[in-house]
Formats: sequence, C-alpha cells, structure tokens
Amino acid sequence: MSAAQRIDGKAEAARVLDSLRDDVERLREQGCAPCLAVVLVGDDPASDVYVRNKVLRARETGIESVEHRLPANTSEDTLLTLIAALNADPAVHGILVQMPLPAGLDEHAVIDAIAPAKDVDGFHPANVGQLVLGDATLAPCTPNGCLHLLRQVAGDLSGKHAVVVGRSNIVGKPMAALLLQANCSVTVVHSRSTNAAALCRQADIVVAAVGRPRLLDAGWIKPGAIVIDVGINRIEIDGQPKLVGDVDFDSVAPVAGAITPVPGGVGPMTIAFLMKNTIAAAVRQQAMRDAIAA
Ligand code: NDP
Repeated sequence: MSAAQRIDGKAEAARVLDSLRDDVERLREQGCAPCLAVVLVGDDPASDVYVRNKVLRARETGIESVEHRLPANTSEDTLLTLIAALNADPAVHGILVQMPLPAGLDEHAVIDAIAPAKDVDGFHPANVGQLVLGDATLAPCTPNGCLHLLRQVAGDLSGKHAVVVGRSNIVGKPMAALLLQANCSVTVVHSRSTNAAALCRQADIVVAAVGRPRLLDAGWIKPGAIVIDVGINRIEIDGQPKLVGDVDFDSVAPVAGAITPVPGGVGPMTIAFLMKNTIAAAVRQQAMRDAIAA
C-alpha cells in the first residue's frame, strides 16, 4: 500500500477558486467584471473538454467568459483578426487560444499576437522574459499550479534539489524557472539526457512533464521525495480507456514522501491558476484605466 502522502489537487484547486470568488466580488464592486475569452479552433475532442471545463470554472468563479469556436480550416489571417479584436476590446481581460492548433496554423505567430497584458496562459515572449527575470505577473498556469502544490506540501523550497523531466515551453522550462526563483537547485532532463533516472534519484522534488505513460517508476525516485506528475496520457487497459500520468503511481507511491495522482492532481490546479491569471490581468488593466482617467 501507498506510504506517500497523496496530494489532492482537486481539493486544493477548489480552495484556490473559493478564495478567488472574493477577489472577483471586489473587482465587480469597482465596476470591473473580469472576462476571459477562449478561442478553440477545430474539433479535437480533448481540447473541447479542456475548453468546456475552463468556461465552466470561469462561470463558477464569477468570471465572465466568451467562447469563440472556429472551424479547423480557419485561416491564420482570420484567427489573427479575431485576436486583434479581442486585444482591443476593453471588456476582455484574458485571452486563451487552446493548443494544439490544427496543422497549418503557426502557434508562435498566434501566441505573439496576443497582447502580453491579456496573455493569461503566460506563453507570450514578453511574459516568458518576465518569468526568467523572476518578475512574472502572468506565469504559465500548469507550472504555477505545481509550485503551489509543492509549497503546500513542503513550505519553503529553498535549497531543495528539483529535477524537472521535460523541457517544453509550456511546462518544463517555465517550471524550472519558477523552481529556480523559489531558490531550488534545478536540473532539467529531456529525451537526450543519458542518465535521466540517475539524476532523478538525487532529487528532493521531481516534476514529470514528459507525455510518456508511467515512464518514471520507483527506480527513478529517492525515498521521501515529492513527486508531481503533470502527465496526462490516454491509454487502454484491458480494452478500457484510462487516464494515466508520466509516473507509475503504484510503483512510486511506496517510495515517495508525497505524490500527485492522475487524474485529480495537477490538472485541476491548471484551471484554478488560469482563473487566478485572469483576475490578475483584470486587476492590472483596471488599475491602468484608473490611472489614465485620474
Ligand atoms: P512535450 O511533448 O511538449 O514535451 C515533452 C518533453 O519530455 C520534451 O522536452 C522531451 O524531450 C521530454 N522527453 C520525452 N521523452 C523523454 C524521456 N524518455 N526521458 C526524458 N525526457 C523525455 O509535452 P508537454 O510538456 O506539453 O506535456 C507533457 C505532459 O504533460 C503531457 O502528458 C501533457 O498531456 C501533460 N500536460 C498536462 C497539463 C495539465 O494541466 N495537467 C498541461 C500541459 C501538459 P525533448 O525536448 O528532448 O524532445
């Protein structure tokens, strides 16, 4: 049986969302109704579920949401024109374009087109730069949610050795930047690393963002380490569809000190931090408007 503390991301996300409702209320009293625009291009079923969940959580938190669903054959010009309109709309505070985009659309061009102040995913180069400088206002939601869980479990992270498995722009790299900012010693391993498991075994904290079902087993984990599993992999077991992480939970749980499950770990935190970013964006835009009006 599992010896590790099971980190309940669902419960923690609910607490974060609860605290945000008060912030939304305060903003509304000041005449600002925070609003998130969600853009979905194409009909990828997983993206559809993510978008529906985001819109639902926004409504539950008191955040307005507008959905823009475009067909898979949408041209880049059409998409960029929509983003320009959302950038210019003072009633919209956050813009999220659900990734991945259908083939033929340039994700970089789309991300670059979003006004940095409304980039609630934190993917725009200006926000990535702020993050690396240690001064992020809009940090990417998944790694920020992971950091929150780590702080809940371990408190001050100073001096801990963290290994991040994966170096994507949306999870691995920003995770490493946030852990560095939290005073961890950070190692990043990736597909070209020759000794990934051995490096992981040295870690007090392991964050797995690989996209390989159950890649990390007990042999990768130091006894007592905190393990955050970002992976969402859809596989079939005995003919049944199943969602599993990048960590082999059953193998790692007896060794780790604490571990996030999949589902119910990082996923709900990502959405909670998207709402947090939307409110942060609304607060800043409102403050800027107040300053101009004064
Ligand atoms: P990417 O495919 O963009 O990146 C995967 C990374 O893993 C790459 O850096 C790759 O290395 C590295 N990698 C691949 N194989 C190995 C290996 N054998 N050993 C070590 N490193 C390896 O994935 P994402 O970062 O976008 O997503 C990772 C996982 O997280 C996915 O399962 C995704 O679904 C999930 N996810 C979950 C979210 C949530 O809210 N819970 C949000 C976002 C993602 P290289 O760079 O060398 O190719």
